[in-house]
Amino acid sequence: MLRDWGSRDKAFIALTARIRARLLEIAGVGASHVAVPVQGSGTFAVEATLGTLIRPDAKTLVLVNGAYGKRMVAILERMGREAAVLEWPEDRPVEPQALDAALAAEAAIRHVAVVHCETTSGILNPVEAVAEVVARHDRGLIIDSMSAFGAIPFAGAEVEFDALAASANKCFEGVPGVGFAIVAKDVLAAAAGNAHSLSLDLHAQWRGFEANGQWRFTPPTHVLAAFDQALAEHADEGGVAGRYRRYSENRRILVEGMRGLGFETLLGDEVQAPIIVTFLMPSTPGFDFQLFYDGLAERGFVIYPGKLTVADSFRIGCIGRLGPDEMRQALAAVEVTLKSMGVGVLETVSR
Ligand SMILES: *Cc1c(COP(=O)(O)O)cnc(C)c1O
Repeated sequence: MLRDWGSRDKAFIALTARIRARLLEIAGVGASHVAVPVQGSGTFAVEATLGTLIRPDAKTLVLVNGAYGKRMVAILERMGREAAVLEWPEDRPVEPQALDAALAAEAAIRHVAVVHCETTSGILNPVEAVAEVVARHDRGLIIDSMSAFGAIPFAGAEVEFDALAASANKCFEGVPGVGFAIVAKDVLAAAAGNAHSLSLDLHAQWRGFEANGQWRFTPPTHVLAAFDQALAEHADEGGVAGRYRRYSENRRILVEGMRGLGFETLLGDEVQAPIIVTFLMPSTPGFDFQLFYDGLAERGFVIYPGKLTVADSFRIGCIGRLGPDEMRQALAAVEVTLKSMGVGVLETVSR
């Protein structure tokens, strides 16, 4: 990142091509799909994917069990694309059987959109089973795999999907500033003219890369240089399997340690992804979330406030350049912070 890259220079063209090829490998797909990066945060990639693949007159069913599913609905509504919603509580995975019934009942639905790991709660949705239902009904599937892709196993060759969107700065541990979609080539080829936006048109973006290897508009060069390095480190760690192993171990240490201190997780272990863990807010007298947050931050650990509607909560991530040592240090900081608030072992939590 300390070097200036000429965005139309051949070294940078090669860097872009390397990233695009590597993303396809990680997704487990070959020439059937293409990787199309797009400037901006992950939401830009999701918005570009929805806006490009969905024709203006087509209806989309969005499976919602958290804020990111709701965000896709908001994007569709803002673009004027018709959206139907199938919704579950935030602590329950989406259910393929209910999707099956909804698709059987409504032929007008052409696309289904689902979030892979709903980062709102940290729940893992069964995207493979969802994909099977969507394919059986001959509709198109769009996956927001932002917080899963790169660390949660995904056998792209065996899953029928039109597109998957993610970004550099979650499980790839890159810096923020670029997202991407992995799109079925035939679907993308047929999507010319759909997009509501010039800069978020993935078809045009793809045609640009195919034409001369360059980005249509100025790319975040330093961010891409970092992403290239992040992908090399991802490979060195053993790719998706290696990262899944480390994050799973982070989650194990975190959940065991927090439970040992009396905290309770929102989710059952069987649906908890190794990405981010939601803890219910303790009701113990003396526990104050702002003091807790600030105490951890002073000790070098920044956590996440809750984003749930079903329960008062906070979240702690398992991803990023963290391993067992850092997770144990975080637990030690939690323990010291509780003591500093005059709260010993937590015994009761609210739900
Ligand atoms: C992080 C994330 C996004 C994108 O959010 P940005 O703030 O735009 O990076 C989208 N979906 C999910 C599931 C996410 O975790």
